[in-house]
Amino acid sequence: MLARARIRIVLVLLSRRRWPAGSTLKECADFLARFSSQSGALGFILCNMTRKVLVPRDPICLEHRPAGGHPESPERLAAVYADLDAKPVPGIHMVSPRKATREELLRVHSPRYLKKIEETSGTKSPIWLDPDTCASEHSHEAALIAAGALCMSVEEVLSGRFDSAFALVRPPGHHAEPDTVMGFCLFNNVAVAAAKALAEHGLKRILVLDPDVHHGNGTQQAFWKSSKVLYVSTHRYPFYPGTGWFDEIGMGEGSGYTMNIPLPYGSGDADLLHVYREAVEPVVEAFRPELILVSAGFDTDKLDPLGGFEMTVAGYSALYGLFLSWAQRFSEGRMILALEGGYSATALVRAVRCLLELLTGARTPEEDVPGSPSDLARQAASKALSMRHMAQATG
Ligand SMILES: [Zn+2]
Repeated sequence: MLARARIRIVLVLLSRRRWPAGSTLKECADFLARFSSQSGALGFILCNMTRKVLVPRDPICLEHRPAGGHPESPERLAAVYADLDAKPVPGIHMVSPRKATREELLRVHSPRYLKKIEETSGTKSPIWLDPDTCASEHSHEAALIAAGALCMSVEEVLSGRFDSAFALVRPPGHHAEPDTVMGFCLFNNVAVAAAKALAEHGLKRILVLDPDVHHGNGTQQAFWKSSKVLYVSTHRYPFYPGTGWFDEIGMGEGSGYTMNIPLPYGSGDADLLHVYREAVEPVVEAFRPELILVSAGFDTDKLDPLGGFEMTVAGYSALYGLFLSWAQRFSEGRMILALEGGYSATALVRAVRCLLELLTGARTPEEDVPGSPSDLARQAASKALSMRHMAQATG
């Protein structure tokens, strides 16, 4: 009670607004969230000081072993686990997730696809499922756990037992299409989670943010004709997988509910922050998501050997701080992150720690980043917004 009273006094002083009598701490946070952008860093800390963060992780995710030298190696996630074990982040709750059920997977993938992945189980030598994607003895089990981690996160966050979740699992998911293995991905973890939230929890507006350096073709395809899932991707272009141009905006009822913002090689913190603030934020404000899912890829990091972007921890802090502010404004703080790409263990470890500290409220997000957005990033933001307006005008 004393803490609540102190917070109320601080907030009233900060906001100079009338504070509702008898408010719970969560109501205080929600009240503050509505104008946290005016209240600055202290406001963010107060919003997040009681947040419970679920972190599903499991050793089986280290047993998915693509053939030698593969960039999506167990070592990248092992480094994250080792870092969290050596220096735990206060306030996170690490748990072993369950496997995704057949029913959950079938909302996104075909029966034939599930059979194809299942048939790799127990293989004594790695099987190449496409030129980039390999399955080993325990890959099927790891993929079931990875998708299950996202399903568990949906249950725990939508029940209110946790405010947010960050599933530290692999294999990643956003390239996996309903019937096609692609890009190191077996099951589309985020798409399975979104489909579950729609089907089992009755949600009608889910935002999927995909700031991985690659376009999430699989997630886009899963919700191409849906107006219930707004899919937003920023990615390097031209680049793997070759999709994600501005004019890919969805179809039918889903027209205008896919937003692609391709960016050139070398894009960095100021560029990404600009496009999310200028092009994505107005769309999010209009959509008012009930839940935010994030394909959290860190192959945008300047240390990444594959990505070709120049992001830093300060950039991640500012960007995910923006995502969190949207969650606080629209979805009662509910945000679920799934690990996607990121092939520098050093970059991955520090980015994951940064995000976990943001989620618990231990870290204040950067309000801005050094430098200015490039002309190409400014043009990309304008072009993406104009495509959205065209879709609305013709929809
Ligand atoms: Zn990627």
